[in-house]
Amino acid sequence: MALRFALVIEPAASDDPRPDFGGSFRVIDPSAPALSVGELSTQRGDGIFESIGVVDGHAQETQAHLERLAHSAEICDLPVPHLEQWRQAVEIAAQHAPSQGEGVIKLILSRGVEHGPAPTAWVTVNAAPDNTAARERGIRVVTLDRGYGIDTPASAPWLLLGAKTLSYAVNMAALREAKRRGADDAIFVTSDGFVLEAPTASLILRIDGRFVTPAPNGGILHGTTQLSLFAHLEEQGLATGYETLPIGAMGKADAAWLLSSVRLAAPVTAIDGVEVPVDAELTASFNRYLLSPRD
Ligand code: PLP
Repeated sequence: MALRFALVIEPAASDDPRPDFGGSFRVIDPSAPALSVGELSTQRGDGIFESIGVVDGHAQETQAHLERLAHSAEICDLPVPHLEQWRQAVEIAAQHAPSQGEGVIKLILSRGVEHGPAPTAWVTVNAAPDNTAARERGIRVVTLDRGYGIDTPASAPWLLLGAKTLSYAVNMAALREAKRRGADDAIFVTSDGFVLEAPTASLILRIDGRFVTPAPNGGILHGTTQLSLFAHLEEQGLATGYETLPIGAMGKADAAWLLSSVRLAAPVTAIDGVEVPVDAELTASFNRYLLSPRD
């Protein structure tokens, strides 16, 4: 799908007092070459990104995405992003997303050109793919070993495990492996037997009426969709929790979902070939909520 719009950002220092950052944005032809061949994002995957869902022209959960961008920047020793500058860029981008239906705004902050003076930053806008089948019919998943233990994020912070980095080759390889095994998606587990996340989504399990998700304590991303859905569930008086979940916990779930900003709530129909019940009504209500305007 061809990109609809792209904007290059000249990143401002985090304490820049300008109220209007319009002069720091440059609209570019989204189909023309734009990056230097010296870019560290393309040479080394050295940078971070965010994907924001857009519904009927409204960018969803912008603040949560910007906060996570700042968190990823901190983990990766990138300059602190100026959140107001990025917010204004998202606002412009949203005007170029489909005014009806779903879109995606991608924010990218790269370390820049090798030995260059500054990081490179840009924003793209696209229409979202049709995710109806995953939302309504569900997805089959397989568990895949992520190759590290539950304590690794703390002992090896240079693995950047809690950052949304541009180095997604491993995540994409996991999705291909899942497909080779006849599934639609994967759930990463640690080599010492704990549940993590999917390659591009968070996992929620319903166990004994509680909604639980693996604790985002360094090894996984804290999903903005999961955060938003938990707040919604809590408003209805439902119990939620972050836990260190052993693989066996998945066998106790009477419903499970993968959650992410663009696909939204996809009910899990099977884990490693073992059927998982689907609560179709609740899933539909999750997606109605996730498709409503959220800030
Ligand atoms: N975990 C990983 C590894 C992801 O890449 C993503 C999103 O792409 C998520 C979780 C879900 O995050 P969000 O709900 O903010 O899209």
